Amino acid sequence: MNRYPSRPVVLCLSGHDPSGGAGLQADIEALLAQGCHAAPAITALTVQDTVDVRDFRILDRAWVLAQADAVIGDLPVAAVKLGMLGSLEMVDTVVEIMARLPGVPLVCDPVLRAGGGGALGKDEVGYAIRERLLPLCRIATPNLPEARILAELPDGSADACAEKLLAHCEHLLITGGHGDEREVHNRLYARDGSRHDFTCARLPGSYHGSGCTLASTLAGRLALGEELASAVNSALDYTWRTLRDAEQPGHGQYVPRRL
Ligand code: PLP
Repeated sequence: MNRYPSRPVVLCLSGHDPSGGAGLQADIEALLAQGCHAAPAITALTVQDTVDVRDFRILDRAWVLAQADAVIGDLPVAAVKLGMLGSLEMVDTVVEIMARLPGVPLVCDPVLRAGGGGALGKDEVGYAIRERLLPLCRIATPNLPEARILAELPDGSADACAEKLLAHCEHLLITGGHGDEREVHNRLYARDGSRHDFTCARLPGSYHGSGCTLASTLAGRLALGEELASAVNSALDYTWRTLRDAEQPGHGQYVPRRL
C-alpha cells in the first residue's frame, strides 16, 4: 500500500567526494531539499579533501550500467543529472543509459575540475561530452572556465562560447561564479535566440560543490514539472542561499549548507 505519493525520482550519475562537499552527496542533499528522491549511481571514486583532489578512479562501465539498470527497472525516473564522468567510455555509457529513458530531461554539469582546480577528467572528455551528450541534454550548466574548454575558446566571452555550444545543445546556463566582479552574472541561452539574465551578489570565499548543487537542484526542479527558465531561477536562488550559509569544516573551501 502506498501511504504517500512518491517524490519525483532523479537519477544522479556522478562521482563520490569523501569530503562530502561535492559529488553525489551534494546531489542527494540538494535533491532532498527540493522534495525529490535521489537515486545516486556512482561513476567514479575520488580521493580529495576540501583543498583539492589527490586521485580518482573511474568505475567499470558494466558497473555503472548495472546500477542505472537497477534504478530504471524499479523507479520512475523523472530526470537525470550528470556530474563527473571522467572518461570517454563513461560518456558512451551515459549515451547508452539515456537511450533507455526517452523523453526524460537530462541536466549535464560538465565536470572537468574540482573547485580547488585539480583535474577530474581530461579536456578530451569535455569534447566528447560536447559531441555526444550535449545533444541529448535539456540543459547544460558549465561555469565560464568549463564553457571555454568545451567551446575551445580559451579567452572567449560567455556569449562567444554559447554561440558555439548552442550548435550542440538546446539550452545552456553559463555561470559567472569564477569571475571577480562585484556581481555574479549568469546567463541562460536558448537555441531559439532567447536570453535570460540572472544576477546575484558575489559572496566572499571559494566553494566546494557549488556546481553540483546547482545542477542537481535544476534537475530536481525539472522533475517536479517546473518550466525551464523558472527552474533555473529557483536553482540559482537556492544555490546562492546554500553558499551564503556555507561552512568551512576543514582547511580549504567552504561547503554549501544545503539542508
Ligand atoms: N564531482 C565530484 C565527484 C567532485 O569531486 C567535484 C569537485 O570536487 C565536482 C563534481 C565538482 O565540484 P564543483 O561543484 O565545486 O564544481
